[in-house]
Amino acid sequence: MQLLSDRILNMATSATLAMAAKARELRGEGKDIIGLSLGEPDFNTPDFIKDAAIQAVNDNYNSYSPVDGYVELKEAVITKFKRDNNLTYTLPQIVVSTGAKQCLANIAAVMLNDGDEVLLPCPYWVSYSDIVKLNGGVPVEVATSIDTDFKMTPAQLEAAITPKTKMMWFSSPCNPSGSVYSREELRALADVLVKYPNIYVVSDEIYEHINYGSGHASIAEFDDMYNNTITVNGVSKAFAMTGWRIGFIGAPEKIARACNKMQGQITSGANCIAQRAVITALNAEPSAVKYMIDEFKVRRDLVLDLLSGIEGFKSNTPEGAFYVFPDVSFYFGKTLNGTKINNATDFSLYLLEAALVATVTGDAFGNPNCIRISYAASQEQIIEAIKRIKAVVS
Ligand code: PMP
Ligand code: GLU
Repeated sequence: MQLLSDRILNMATSATLAMAAKARELRGEGKDIIGLSLGEPDFNTPDFIKDAAIQAVNDNYNSYSPVDGYVELKEAVITKFKRDNNLTYTLPQIVVSTGAKQCLANIAAVMLNDGDEVLLPCPYWVSYSDIVKLNGGVPVEVATSIDTDFKMTPAQLEAAITPKTKMMWFSSPCNPSGSVYSREELRALADVLVKYPNIYVVSDEIYEHINYGSGHASIAEFDDMYNNTITVNGVSKAFAMTGWRIGFIGAPEKIARACNKMQGQITSGANCIAQRAVITALNAEPSAVKYMIDEFKVRRDLVLDLLSGIEGFKSNTPEGAFYVFPDVSFYFGKTLNGTKINNATDFSLYLLEAALVATVTGDAFGNPNCIRISYAASQEQIIEAIKRIKAVVS
């Protein structure tokens, strides 16, 4: 009998985490790697949040929390959804989990049956497709192009829908393209979706506050979408709290209760100290973290400016998140310093080996022509990394 299940054997390793591990390994060998692979703010968690965690330790928050999160935290989530997104949720509609990643895993586990199709506008965040597959779902990629700022059009959505379509998952701001759907664009997608009341939307808004443009819109804002949308969010990105592992959903009550039931058998409530700290984070005005957003914007402009000076890097202008996703297909078929580049994976590996710069292949995000560059790194690192990239592709 085989040792490991088909389930795990059929699953891809997370390409973002794999690249980060590879960069760490090479650094351990003494190589001067610049890591632009991981989507992780390089800021410290703000002091006012750390203080709340220390207080929670001293107040002896050491027991299991309710599976779906402390009531005070769920109330803070409700306040946040109302204040920032004009979304009204009640306590039984909120579930707090170990990161937005667990929120997504819960949703897939409680909603998908074998063969259910999940529409994934490409490029999509690396883990969507494997989380869907793990739970018997069939990811259906909807290709978009740089000409529409990597956003899915209503016609593309309509054409991808079949009688088996159960859900659509997307992020706005998008990881990896940085694209942000405007309220009008979301309304146009909603106009298609309302014709199919059995289709549910996962709206992943984890980069909500990292927005350089005209602001954030949630698809659940539309009354005719509210009952068909699960809004996913968390504190990893905007509050520089990736390791604290707290995410949350606002969802139709039946779905939230199912996620609570699932979590109760798998992980129980999320870490109690982190939950207490997040109450403080969410109750703060978003302006408390604006200094980080301002710095990300400076870096975005820097990256775009530097990349524009390299032949064969074609980028959109990302309006949010902290990634650029240039099309590098110009290099496919070419040989760079003796290395034949056939695809984005070859190109990304070449940058790692020749320039000692870690990026992630677009393949992992459903777009084989691009690579993802994270600018959650210092300006000095960005300047040096792009200088090195330029030197090895010229
Ligand atoms: N969604 C997107 C689009 C992401 O980029 C990430 C990055 N980690 C997640 C979800 C998961 O976030 P978390 O750290 O809260 O699990
Ligand atoms: N979301 C981040 C990224 O895309 C963190 C890594 C991960 O969770 O996969 O790089």
